[in-house]
Order: sequence, then C-alpha cells, then structure tokens
Amino acid sequence: MRTVIGLEIHVQLATKTKLFCSCSTDYFTAPPNTLTCPVCLGMPGALPVLNKKAVELALRVSLALNARVQEFSRFDRKNYFYPDLPKGYQITQREYPLAVGGALSFRVDGEARTVRIREMHLEEDAGKLIHTGDGALVDMNRCGVPLIEIVTEPDIQSPKEAREFLRTLRMLLRHLGVSNADMEKGELRCDANISVSTDGKLGTKTEIKNLNSFRAVERALAAEEERQRELLSGGGTVEQVTFGWDEHAGKLVLQRSKEEAHDYRYFPEPDLVPLVVSREWLEQVRAGMPELPWEREERFVREYGLSPKEAGVLMEEPARADYFEAVARACGSPQDAAGWVLSEVLRYWKDDSPPISVEALTELIEAVREGKISRTNAKEVLEEAIATGRAPMEIVEERGLSLLADEEELRRLAQEVIRENPKAVEDFRAGKKGAIGFLVGQAMRKTGGRADAKKLSEIFLEILGSN
Ligand SMILES: [Zn+2]
Repeated sequence: MRTVIGLEIHVQLATKTKLFCSCSTDYFTAPPNTLTCPVCLGMPGALPVLNKKAVELALRVSLALNARVQEFSRFDRKNYFYPDLPKGYQITQREYPLAVGGALSFRVDGEARTVRIREMHLEEDAGKLIHTGDGALVDMNRCGVPLIEIVTEPDIQSPKEAREFLRTLRMLLRHLGVSNADMEKGELRCDANISVSTDGKLGTKTEIKNLNSFRAVERALAAEEERQRELLSGGGTVEQVTFGWDEHAGKLVLQRSKEEAHDYRYFPEPDLVPLVVSREWLEQVRAGMPELPWEREERFVREYGLSPKEAGVLMEEPARADYFEAVARACGSPQDAAGWVLSEVLRYWKDDSPPISVEALTELIEAVREGKISRTNAKEVLEEAIATGRAPMEIVEERGLSLLADEEELRRLAQEVIRENPKAVEDFRAGKKGAIGFLVGQAMRKTGGRADAKKLSEIFLEILGSN
C-alpha cells in the first residue's frame, strides 16, 4: 500500500501591521479587542489597503522556494459565516495566486527528498474564539493578520517525511526573517491531506485540520494512515471527510464532511486592485534576500572547517548560526568556537537568545587557550556564568581557579611531591616511565586541578633526570 500526503501550511508573516489596515499585529500579548479598526472589523464602507511589506515577505519565500512569481495576482472573497469572522468573508487569493511551482529539498534519515510546491498565496487571518465554562468569547485582534498559505503537491510519502518537511520549512522561514513560525503560538499551522492506495492510483483523501505541533503532524497522520489501511484491507472504502486532532487523547476527531469550493462562493474582491509585481520590484526583493540556510551550511563547512552535521545543528536556528559565527570571529578560532558552542553552550540554550554573551564566551575561550585556566574548570565557570550572569573571569578569580603556571611555585610543589613519594621516584629511576604520570597526578590533587599539567611534567622530568 502506498501513502500519499499533501500539506497546506499557513504562515503568519512578521509584519508590524495587518494585511489591509494599520492595526498592530501584536495580538499575542495585547488585551482582547484592542487592535481593531473599521477595516479589520468589516464595517460597511471601510476600504482595505494592501500592506507592501507583507507582499515583500511573501516574495522572499517564493524566491527561496524557486517558485514562479506571477506578475499579476488578484484577491478573492471566500464567503462563509463564523463568529470570529465579522466581515462574513475572508480576503484570499484563489484564481490568481502570488506564486506557483517551486520545491523544497530536505533529508529524512539521511536520504534526500524533494517536495514540489503547487502554489503560494496571501490571505488574512480570522479572529479567535475563546471557549469558557459557560460560553464562548471572541477576540478580533487577529482579524486581518497577514498569512501566506503554501500548498504542496502530494509528494510526501510518510508521516515522518511530513514532519521533516515542516521542520525544514520552519528553518527556512526563520532564516528568511519572514516569520518566527512558532507552532505553539499558531504562527505556523498545518492542514494535511492523506490517502492510502492499494492499486498505485491516488486513493480517496481525507483531511486533518489545524495541526499545531510537529509531533501532532506526525502522530495524526500515522493514525489516519493506519485507519485507512485497515479499512481498505477489510474491503471497505474511504469516505472524504475532515478530522481534527485531539493531541491530549491522541485521537482523530471527525469534524464534518468536506465542503466543496463552490460552497464558499468565491468572487473577485471588488475593493482591491490586482496586485502587480513588476520585474524591478522582484529584483529589488531578490537583492535584499538573506543567505539561505543551505547556502550558509555549505559556507560554514568550507569557511570554518565544520562537519556537515555540525553546520546542520547550527543551522536549525538562525540565532545559533549567528552566535557561532560571532564567537568564531571574536576568538579567531572556528574550531574552538564550534567546540564550545556545540558541546557546551547549546546544552544551556533554552529560548530565542543565547545563554551567555559572545564577549563572555570569547573571554573564556581565550583564557583556556592562553593557559590561564584548565578546560575542565572552564566548563564549571561557564555553568556558573550562565546561572548567575556574572563575568567568567570574575568567577575564576573569586574561586581561585586560575591555572598555577608560576615556574617557582611549580618547582616547589614538585620537590614536595618527590619527598612524599619515594616509591614512585624509585620506580621511575628503575625505568618505569609511567611513574611520572602518578607524580603529576599527586601534584594536581594538591592544587585542586589548577596546576599546568604539561609544565609540571617537564619539571618532574628535569629534576629526576638530573639527579
Ligand atoms: Zn484594523
């Protein structure tokens, strides 16, 4: 049996204002119904004006996906009634979308995959219903927030592949600076179509709406794949229906039989002129494009000598890649920067911003390189600097962790250890070269690991060799 999956993804664009009015898009923190105006509330006579910035962000995505931007696109009204849609229609693009075609390549378990894009269009978001114990409240702040809808071809072959496609898309959106694409906040939402076929032809597809985490995407699709397989193996047929997904219960929830497009009575939006993207405008957007994540990954391998895997981990979040690059430049050693960022700093990295500043980490890296502090102690200092926000070298001084490198002091220490360990000295003289390691270890213990082990070893050899 063959599984075929297609996705429809809604991405909230990171503009300051809404798609057709100047209301703020900052609905996540604002009190309900404070970011509205006659345009986004659909008052009679209010006229929409298209947000240029939203178009430019959508164009960036089109270019990154190698989609064909249409010189002429147009807005349509999608008519339906819902309490969170005061206008009674949504402005979207149906007949003439902003861009068509394109593709996104990614890896699933190390294997290269490419999913083609069917089309991409601009549309406005609806408000939000807040269900309370004894009713429902409505918040119109999100009405009119700009979205792009990206529709894939049915090229995805498994629930896991759907998840990896989305992860790659989110990475791209963040690197492009077009959206934070945080699924928990609803900035990236996904509807999925899935069909299982027994004869190689496309089977009847069902839809799962409003998947709002990577985990939900994979689990919901796996559940529906399983359900269709069982139905078909038992000689049954799949009905064209729409499900929701109850993440808590891990179950599909039947919502309704699918609407047909004609139920929405689409017609051209009479209040907006067609959108014309001139060649000059498109070239201007192209010229301002940030480096694409896969280009940047290649550059990190070439320029900084990272492995593709290391570069890939940094690329997962643009903030990580930026941070690494800043540390590599500041300390002048990409290898040191990669070692510290990948194996230490990332363990403490919880939110959007790095747990320790570029300057502070550089200070620590340089201290280790200049032999002022041991690597082991430096890791402890890093942990404390992150926990307290204090400067690393301040912690080194306060805790007396600076490396004992004073020649006189080390020599005195070596003499003391030699006096206390006559057996090891005898062993060394009898030809057991490994006894030096034991003596160095004893000296390290006396200093709490602060002595410069390499220098100490040289001093022991010099003293014992000359006697
Ligand atoms: Zn408004």
